[in-house]
Amino acid sequence: MTREAQIVTEFLKESDWSVMFRWISKENLGECDYKKKRISINMELELVDTLVHELLHQRFPNLTETQVKKRTLKYLRRMTVAEIKKLAKRIGG
Ligand SMILES: [Zn+2]
Repeated sequence: MTREAQIVTEFLKESDWSVMFRWISKENLGECDYKKKRISINMELELVDTLVHELLHQRFPNLTETQVKKRTLKYLRRMTVAEIKKLAKRIGG
């Protein structure tokens, strides 16, 4: 195992912190809360963000990676929270 994978594995095995999937906001894919000793992963946003990103590659093959990232943010900013959650459910999140 690489050192990096080992660090993450040890955290998951031995830490008194928890890791959970939960909605945070449209701007945050994750969150590190020291008071609650909790790392949150915004899986719904991760899924839709990735789908939109790859969809933009599919539709506009000539865009650069930077342009795709910028346009993905624009898409997500314009979508409502309800729309993002609904799409995440359709993807399987
Ligand atoms: Zn890309």
